[in-house]
Amino acid sequence: MSSTWINSRQIYSYHFIAKPKWRPCCLCIVTVLFSLAFSTASATSSSDSTVNEYFTAKVNMTYFSQKEEKFVSESKQMGHYVKYGKLGPETAKVIHVMTKKNKSDGCTDLVNAPVNEKWIALIERGDCKFSEKLKIAQKFNACAVVFYNNETTKNTKTLYPNIQRSIEIIQLSTEPSEKDNVVTIFISQTDGKNIVSKIEAFPGHDVKLAITVGPRTHDSTNKHSIESTNNISRTSVLFVSISFIVLMIISLAWLVFYYIQRFRYAHAKERLTRRLASAAKKAIAKIPQRTVKIGDKELESEFDQCAVCIEGYKASDVIRILPCKHIFHKSCVDPWLLDQRSCPMCKLDILREYGMQVHVSIADNTCVE
Ligand SMILES: [Zn+2]
Ligand SMILES: [Zn+2]
Repeated sequence: MSSTWINSRQIYSYHFIAKPKWRPCCLCIVTVLFSLAFSTASATSSSDSTVNEYFTAKVNMTYFSQKEEKFVSESKQMGHYVKYGKLGPETAKVIHVMTKKNKSDGCTDLVNAPVNEKWIALIERGDCKFSEKLKIAQKFNACAVVFYNNETTKNTKTLYPNIQRSIEIIQLSTEPSEKDNVVTIFISQTDGKNIVSKIEAFPGHDVKLAITVGPRTHDSTNKHSIESTNNISRTSVLFVSISFIVLMIISLAWLVFYYIQRFRYAHAKERLTRRLASAAKKAIAKIPQRTVKIGDKELESEFDQCAVCIEGYKASDVIRILPCKHIFHKSCVDPWLLDQRSCPMCKLDILREYGMQVHVSIADNTCVE
């Protein structure tokens, strides 16, 4: 058991009962953690707002109907505008592109692009990057590009961000001006196949598309976008919740620890005060006292007054003679000694003088005499 002997006056400055100094440090850590969590959460939510920037596209298709033997129109909200393409309306006949390799992916030079005529390129997704397909369509003077999916919508959660990145790269690398951009939209496989079927039904009759800007993505019922937005918001909600719970646990643990320390501090201080008072009482009992009688030197006019009440001594006053030979009224010095445990004149420690130092044990937080 490690222990230390200390002077009764030094006891209050002793580190055992010094107030805990780690409180501001913990506050700093908690504040930093909170700021980190919320800055990350806001960064995540700002990426959500990028997803919400997409505009839906409304497509009006005019084709020859064999049943009705005339041109008919059908209008439908199909897919989305690509962010870095031109955002605006476009009307022209649509061509399902064919490459030299007899494919409709638009990854190599086209064989069926009209010359000197306004046209919209219908291109299947896959085989190469969207940016490459767009470059080729622009090379063959397409006024707009409609990409259609090559698979069902279930596996295309990350499709839109991919298109955006791909298109963004080409636009940034070629320093686009307003006139270089063409209307570019992305539609589902079903809508793409529907347009293809109308084109192939009567090769002699053109199929016309009129593309117009629809409402923003968050108003849309499109599955790709909703799924990807839901995924991102689910992740950010989960992240914020976990951060909040972790921070709550840290804060709670800190609070509990802090109050335990405070309680221990108060308890130890109270115990120490009690011990010191009891030791002081015992020491006071050992200090000699006597009653002043006529003829004693204390009654002489040159004799010092009581330093506590600043009054001279009279016959039949009870006085105490401290070990340092300083004299006081018993009624004046006893309350002082009980509280201060030292001579009011020379600060002599009466506990030390009578061998009653209070012993503080660090191991079990108890004070013994
Ligand atoms: Zn006095
Ligand atoms: Zn003294």
